[in-house]
Amino acid sequence: MNKPTKRRAKEKVDLLIVNAKELLTLAGTNEKPRIGKQMRELGIVRKGALAIRDGRIVAVGKTSEITRKFRSENLISASGKIVLPGFVDAHTHLVFAGFREKEFQMRIEGASYMEILSAGGGILKTVRETRKASFDKLVDLAIQTLDVMLEHGTTTVEAKSGYGLATKDELKILEVIRRANQLHSVDVVPTFLGAHAVPPEYKNNAAEYVNLIVDEMIPQVAEKGLAEFCDVFCERGVFNLEQSKRILVAGKNYRLKPKIHADEMSTCGGAELAAEVGAVSADHLLFASMEGIKAMAEKCVAAVLLPGAAFSLMMGKFADARLMINCGVPVALGTDYNPSCVLENMQLVIAFACHFMQLTPAEAITAATINAAHAIGKAHEIGSLEVGKKADVIILNAPNHKFLGYHFGVNLVDKVIKNGRVVVDREARRIQLPF
Ligand code: FE
Repeated sequence: MNKPTKRRAKEKVDLLIVNAKELLTLAGTNEKPRIGKQMRELGIVRKGALAIRDGRIVAVGKTSEITRKFRSENLISASGKIVLPGFVDAHTHLVFAGFREKEFQMRIEGASYMEILSAGGGILKTVRETRKASFDKLVDLAIQTLDVMLEHGTTTVEAKSGYGLATKDELKILEVIRRANQLHSVDVVPTFLGAHAVPPEYKNNAAEYVNLIVDEMIPQVAEKGLAEFCDVFCERGVFNLEQSKRILVAGKNYRLKPKIHADEMSTCGGAELAAEVGAVSADHLLFASMEGIKAMAEKCVAAVLLPGAAFSLMMGKFADARLMINCGVPVALGTDYNPSCVLENMQLVIAFACHFMQLTPAEAITAATINAAHAIGKAHEIGSLEVGKKADVIILNAPNHKFLGYHFGVNLVDKVIKNGRVVVDREARRIQLPF
């Protein structure tokens, strides 16, 4: 006679997601960002499942295994769909007032970014409007943008100041970022970018403005705990290498980790500087030199690539992502959401990365999740579906991961789960896709 087997009681969890056609775990080492061939390894579990409790992932595996051990009153079937970590947008200028659609037309008609800037447009127009805008108005605008980002699957964004360019206005923007983070389910990681442009008050006297950043802004930002990173727009005609270095080193002294807008419009040694100061990331990099790329690889500086920005600025050129991956630079992605690149959607960024920078869908997904998490210092918490990490999860209407980038211009999101809670559910609104 067979003894009846002892059945262990199933453990109760808050939420179970089961039967994913592909569950992209992105599991692996969280010590370092993924480089080279690692960027193609998505840790796919077919018929995958996730168990979530108290906003954290408690188990990941095959549906048969997970449902044997866990039960929940909240069960989501991801049958026919893919499940992956929420997108991490590693570079945004979230807080501003003043859209610039007129300049969009000027660009179409041939004006360059630097031409628009020297005509008093560009950043400076937004600075005027942002200075005028109230705290509450800026919070409202940021929340609206975060809503759109979340709706498209982004669960964490980095957000920079940089449209104040005066101590009180820069502090106001960083306070807006803090407030938006408190109010919205998307996590917002703050970066101080006082060195975004030289303000009109310091025209022809950038050196004095750098003094203000170093002597006044950085100490106050740090004292109020308003930023985790310090960024600088290192570019010909904006902040030169020496000024950029001074700002980043000053930031470091106040525990603000360096980031750089580097080599976006011209080759000016930004990538090399990023490696020299131990930056967490160097961003844009369209004109990065070979030496700079090698130096970044050596120091494991993430390249945050922003194909949406190159697209909207109509530069006819994109960063050489393939060269960077071949050289061992960890590549991440961001929208660069700002008034000249009004783009909230990381799915479209992935499509751009595939079409214009020859990333495979798998590489682009890695760049938009775990590597982006590294690029904002959060890889211990987010960017992959692993036990102990935040339950920031998206379910997409795609039969496999290669549909990301391939099927573009629509929102593939079915559900967004943030901290274990369903915060977007588009299932009811969805038009049935033909696969
Ligand atoms: Fe930017």
